[in-house]
Amino acid sequence: MKLQTDFSKIMNSQLFHVLKNTVEELSVEAFVIGGFVRDFILKRKQKKDLDIVVLGSGIDLAKALQIKLPGAKPVQIFKTYGTAMIHWEGLDIEFVGARKESYLPESRNPKVTPGSLSDDQNRRDFTINTLAISLNHSNFGAFIDPFNGLEDLKNKILRTPLDPNVTFSDDPLRMLRAIRFSNQLNFTIEARSLQAISKNRSRMNIISMERIVDELHKILVTPKPSIGFTLLEKTGLLKFILPELIALKGVEEIEGQSHKDNFYHTLEVVDNLCPNSDNLWLRWAALLHDIGKAETKKFKHSAGWTFHNHEFVGAKMVYKIFKRLKMPLNEKMKFVQKMVLMSSRPIVIAEEQVTDSAVRRLVFDAGSEIEDLITLCEADITTKNHQLFKRYHNNFKLVREKIIKVEEKDHLRNFQPPVSGEVIMQFFGLYPCREIGIIKEAIKEAILDGEIPNKNEAAFERMKEEGKRLGLTPHEKSI
Ligand code: ATP
Ligand code: MG
Repeated sequence: MKLQTDFSKIMNSQLFHVLKNTVEELSVEAFVIGGFVRDFILKRKQKKDLDIVVLGSGIDLAKALQIKLPGAKPVQIFKTYGTAMIHWEGLDIEFVGARKESYLPESRNPKVTPGSLSDDQNRRDFTINTLAISLNHSNFGAFIDPFNGLEDLKNKILRTPLDPNVTFSDDPLRMLRAIRFSNQLNFTIEARSLQAISKNRSRMNIISMERIVDELHKILVTPKPSIGFTLLEKTGLLKFILPELIALKGVEEIEGQSHKDNFYHTLEVVDNLCPNSDNLWLRWAALLHDIGKAETKKFKHSAGWTFHNHEFVGAKMVYKIFKRLKMPLNEKMKFVQKMVLMSSRPIVIAEEQVTDSAVRRLVFDAGSEIEDLITLCEADITTKNHQLFKRYHNNFKLVREKIIKVEEKDHLRNFQPPVSGEVIMQFFGLYPCREIGIIKEAIKEAILDGEIPNKNEAAFERMKEEGKRLGLTPHEKSI
């Protein structure tokens, strides 16, 4: 891809002119730096943040600029970090004083002292993130690239500006960032930097779970997350994040029978899913859909390799994993659990001559998530046998058709009991008791079995029959 190194278009914009004038008025020096410059050169869709490093007070520059930008929101000041931010025309402009950092082994938060531009560039994670453009009158628009970051952008290489062992040990989050950038940008991590990641892997212990999960999410939303997860595994970082996935690695053979490598299978499923769903949580479900297989793996003479009940075990593991990663234990987690738990259900329907009743039960249990579940199952097809691949996909097409048919008839997706508990109580003159539950369950079962339609009248008749069977008599007013 051709890089874009002519900055005149942005330098001539209103914002950069105002910036230049303000920088001059305050007699400070300032530079645009980092992700904005990198993404401009790569012609990536510009994100909404613009980082400006200042030799002097970033807060003062932000305040002076805010007054001159029509419609700019008040300056937000982050005292602890000495940074300031202006929100203007959908852009977050962040100002930070140039800094020099020194680290203590137990923390990734450094001691910070004011520094030069070059100090500030030294402390950055990758050469491609050190690129700066001058906002100063004397050399407005000059490109400052002390580490040949432009060359690395051309060659698609991630390299730390200083000794990678120091860079990664100082702030091990950079190891995850390396892998994430490699995945996002399709860049190669230079050999010495890659080795340093492996070497410093135990430094993962000082990164907060929130930051780890942030990076995992950025990997998961790329078009091909397997790139990131393969690197996480190869460098040994995955062990600190999701050891359960590593437990899926490997193939065992007994009596000439082997099973597939469920680690690589899992990554393939995640990749397969990506073109068909942007839903981050469905991608999580793909990542964890076979997570219970390590614990449930058994070899049986008669049946070969089995993973009996792995979906159930897996769904329970989802909770533990989310908890350990400090991810919210909310409806998103429940969705992932549900997908894992149900991940084999549609296969049964695809494989056999099924009754409408089995389809109805699947739709009933999956509810509004039926679409996502089938999409996940389709991604789960990783056979390399073309014939089988085609047949399995075709089977799911049929499953989708069956679901539509059943849905048209019975509307089971968001099932509401057609006869309520209140109606039952009134009809038989009951107070709350277990018979009401029994009757409701009988009606639901009759609908799912296709004995009666999901309609009020038919359900009412079934209620009467079921009441009779239970020895109930209609209340006088009901007759
Ligand atoms: P993205 O916004 O896609 O995550 P980015 O490069 O803009 O990419 P930010 O987290 O916004 O990343 O950080 C802005 C800049 O700050 C980076 O380009 C990099 O120069 C620097 N930076 C961010 N995090 C670190 C870090 N942990 N160590 C060193 N430098 C960092
Ligand atoms: Mg950024």
